[in-house]
Amino acid sequence: APRRTAEEVARAEARTAHNYHPLPVVLSEAEGAWLTDVDGRRFLDFLAGYSALNFGHGHPRLLAAAHAQLDRLTLTSRAFVHDRFADFCAALGDLAGKDMVLPMNTGAEAVETAIKVSRKWGYDVKGVPDGTARIIVAAGNFHGRTTTIVGFSDDPDARGGFGPFTPGFDIVPYGDLAALEAAITPSTVGVLIEPIQGESGVVIPPDDYLPGVRALCTREQVLFVADEIQAGLGRTGRTFACDHADVVPDLYVLGKALGGGVVPVSAVVGDRDVLGVLHPGQHGSTFGGNPLACAVGLKVVEMLRTGEFQAHAAALGVVLHDRLAAMVGHGVVSFRSRGLWAGVDIDPTLGSGRDVCERLMARGVLAKDTHGSTIRLAPPLVISADDLGWGLDRLEEALR
Ligand code: PLP
Repeated sequence: APRRTAEEVARAEARTAHNYHPLPVVLSEAEGAWLTDVDGRRFLDFLAGYSALNFGHGHPRLLAAAHAQLDRLTLTSRAFVHDRFADFCAALGDLAGKDMVLPMNTGAEAVETAIKVSRKWGYDVKGVPDGTARIIVAAGNFHGRTTTIVGFSDDPDARGGFGPFTPGFDIVPYGDLAALEAAITPSTVGVLIEPIQGESGVVIPPDDYLPGVRALCTREQVLFVADEIQAGLGRTGRTFACDHADVVPDLYVLGKALGGGVVPVSAVVGDRDVLGVLHPGQHGSTFGGNPLACAVGLKVVEMLRTGEFQAHAAALGVVLHDRLAAMVGHGVVSFRSRGLWAGVDIDPTLGSGRDVCERLMARGVLAKDTHGSTIRLAPPLVISADDLGWGLDRLEEALR
């Protein structure tokens, strides 16, 4: 690696916990889909901050909203109301077709919020005996890193060494309606799933799965909680991944792109009969729904309202799909894609997913492996057709 890069990587290694294994690249600037490192090298972003950068780096509309808000008011806490709060909540609620919004900061916090809301709803509305509520989750899930959330992960790296865990969760195979139906009991208050499993390798369930989950949840009086933190907000070519199945969950859990790649913004979005179970003192966050977050989040919602980013993702998603299909048998074993999001299983004889990402980096493209020999492609939705094609040319080369 060039000198500055090597130095910065070594300094970071020396002074931070090793809970990540980043590619050895030290980024210092970015615009749109392109990044520049400390040694002046340019890279095409094929990860987009795990979908937090759906609108690319430094989108002028998002930066303008942030800059303007920085000069006016940045933080009040929820002890007071501020003048960006209602606008953001109303706009996001309207985008999702729901009555109410509960803003938090990170994805994991929003998932925790949805778990609390589901349990409270179970006790207050469904009449489940206190302390007995159960929530069904899927094998292969990724919902974040808190002790409760890793407790219902089946990934040994995520959970190993972090117990004891919160009880009350049941794991069923993803995409299996019969298993879900069999797991529902009178104590079940929620089904928490990703409509497409991101960290698992962009795993897309069978077409009848999400409609089936919706029908089962309605029939059994169970909340359908869709974690759209990575899948939602344009990534798949629709506003929500659930839209592809014409399914509306009871709660949307949103994050990542909701903060426009500028600030952490997450939210739980649902109707009054569900989110209304929370009363003062029962949940909160010092930073959740702060003025800066609301100003940026409102701009994100305004940008999604026109459908232009979703349409671009859908159109380029066809290109991504067709190019990957042509690579099957030429270094790619199989792949799954929807919109500008793909999980690509690399021929293991060519190396690990990490090896391929290092080769991609050497050719000027930044992507990330998920598990073993699977890499995930998720460029910013603002990427041009030419740049997407250029990046996929580099992938073809890296697999040769
Ligand atoms: N849920 C899903 C589906 C995710 O992909 C992620 C992050 O990758 C999270 C939750 C956790 O979000 P955060 O890292 O902001 O806590």
